[in-house]
Amino acid sequence: MSEPQHRPYRRVLLKVSGEVLMGDTPYGIDTKTVESVAEDIREIVQSGVELCLVIGGGNIFRGMAGAAKGMERSSADYMGMLATVMNALAMQDALERIGVSTRVQSAIPMATVCEPYIRRRAQRHLEKGRVVIFAAGTGNPFFTTDTAAALRAAEMQCDALFKGTSVDGIYSADPKKDPEAKRYDTLDYMDVLAKDLRVMDASAVALMRDNNIPIVVFSIKGRGNLLNVLKGQGTHTVVSGVRAA
Ligand code: UDP
Repeated sequence: MSEPQHRPYRRVLLKVSGEVLMGDTPYGIDTKTVESVAEDIREIVQSGVELCLVIGGGNIFRGMAGAAKGMERSSADYMGMLATVMNALAMQDALERIGVSTRVQSAIPMATVCEPYIRRRAQRHLEKGRVVIFAAGTGNPFFTTDTAAALRAAEMQCDALFKGTSVDGIYSADPKKDPEAKRYDTLDYMDVLAKDLRVMDASAVALMRDNNIPIVVFSIKGRGNLLNVLKGQGTHTVVSGVRAA
């Protein structure tokens, strides 16, 4: 029997949801968890992979939550985007403390805090081995950081979009609620959309389908998982245009 083929990834975009950064705390940024994710990132950067990062903001503020309490949705979404900048700065700090060179680029210009998003400049940073952290989502309300991750992955010509979550892949149902839930090894983009598997926004999945960029869903909670999955090992789900027989 032949070994499954694994094409090495040269450039990857890693999306980390804000909730991951909470660790076991109910809100905000857990420094130890950020440090642990930073260690994982250092490992893969040292392995020679060019890495882009998009971090969510759900650990601090979600626009929908503000809107549900009567705020205007756009204002609430801008607050959500600002939350992602705080997370980006926390991650930058943790990475730089362990010797990983980084740049934060924000879709909402914030000249005294970080660089504005400039695609060609971001590409140069990646070529020089720096981790580029894209903050403030797409810069537009009514979007999410999943869509921002898909957009930047396409713009940066990434070989894959890695989505680090608290679950080790995509399941047929919520594995925390349904013991019968089955994890998929591979899925087609259309399966995810048609079965409404809710691993990512439909707009993000569609953008990855149109640009033929695989989405790799894995648990970022265990130390070393990221490097393992990057090598095609460990438990994860790959969403691409090809479904395994
Ligand atoms: N957001 C936005 N536009 C974007 C990205 C994010 O308006 O392009 C806002 C939105 O309010 C969202 C919040 O920022 O709820 C935090 O992002 P998200 O919910 O995607 O974070 P995650 O769930 O990944 O932690």
